[in-house]
Parts: sequence; structure tokens; C-alpha cells
Amino acid sequence: MKHRGHSYRNSVAGRSLETHAGIGGTSFVAHMRCSRCPCVGTRNLRAIMPPEHIDRKFLQAGWSLDPHTCPDCLKQASQERKTMSAKPSPTAMRAQAQMFTMLQTHFDTDKGAFAKEWSDDRVATETGLAKALVVEFRQTCFGELKEPDEVRALRSDISALETLARETNASFAAEIASLRTRLAAISSRWGA
Ligand SMILES: [Zn+2]
Repeated sequence: MKHRGHSYRNSVAGRSLETHAGIGGTSFVAHMRCSRCPCVGTRNLRAIMPPEHIDRKFLQAGWSLDPHTCPDCLKQASQERKTMSAKPSPTAMRAQAQMFTMLQTHFDTDKGAFAKEWSDDRVATETGLAKALVVEFRQTCFGELKEPDEVRALRSDISALETLARETNASFAAEIASLRTRLAAISSRWGA
């Protein structure tokens, strides 16, 4: 982008110029303000130069111009771009394709069940992928695991009995504790 006049003298687009009158003559400091952060870059000039030449000095120092951006902000922006376009490695892609094929072959979407001897664990082991990834992928693309009614009924019976056992245990413990307290009270009366 061309600016009429001297973009540094006229303080255009982040640029500015400082003039120092010294014993050895006048010296100049060009400033470039980052458009994204408070950073200000400086370049010392022995003589006043055309703005294009000063621009080149900032470019060489790692700045980007129009929009004027400091090296740190550029680094950060390129890091963000890299993160966003992060692709899985060829190995990971092959493993995912393998997982897809296995699920397609060994998982019955209607029944919500794996074929005999197949499971999320086995797919994870054979592809080398994390089980959590396999489960997530299977749920999204092929559906939830549905247990047969008989299995579901047995599970629910077991869990009900477990709860009952826990509660019964707790009430026995409470009863025993109260008997111990009574025993202690009676024993102390006998001076034991
Ligand atoms: Zn910056």
C-alpha cells in the first residue's frame, strides 16, 4: 500500500518517526506499532530514508506490514492456524479406516450388539486406537449398545440385591453398636 508523503513522518498505519538533534548530527528512530498488541518496534536510522526503505528494515526484523503486525503476534497467528488445520497422521487415518471397517462388519446396528467375540475392546486392541475413541465413534456412527432384555433384567436384579445387602449390613452394624453401648453401660455399673 502506497501512502502519499512520508508515512513515517505523517504517522500513517502504525508508523512514526522520532527525530533527535545530536552533536554528531540529527538521528532518527522509526517506530512501528503493532496493530494487535501494544508492542512498538524501533529501528535506528542514520539518515532519513524513503518510507519503503524503512518498511524493509521492519520486514527484515520479522514484522508484517499493512496490517502492521509484530513478530510475536505473527508467530501466534501461525501457531493458531497450525492447530486449526491439524490433520491426523497417515497411521492414525489408517487405524481409523480399519476401525470403521471392523465396526461395519462386526457391529449390528439394529440389534445394538457386536458379533460373537467382538467388542469395543477388541476393536481398540486390533487397531491400536484408544477404547474411548472407538466407543465414541461407534456411538456416533453405528449406535448405542443394546443389551438383550434377559441380560438387562438380570443386571437390574443384581443391582437391587446389592443395594439391599448394603442397607441390611448397615442396619445390623447399627444394632450391634447400640448393644455394645448398653453392655458398656451395664459393665461399668458392676465396676468391671
Ligand atoms: Zn503484536
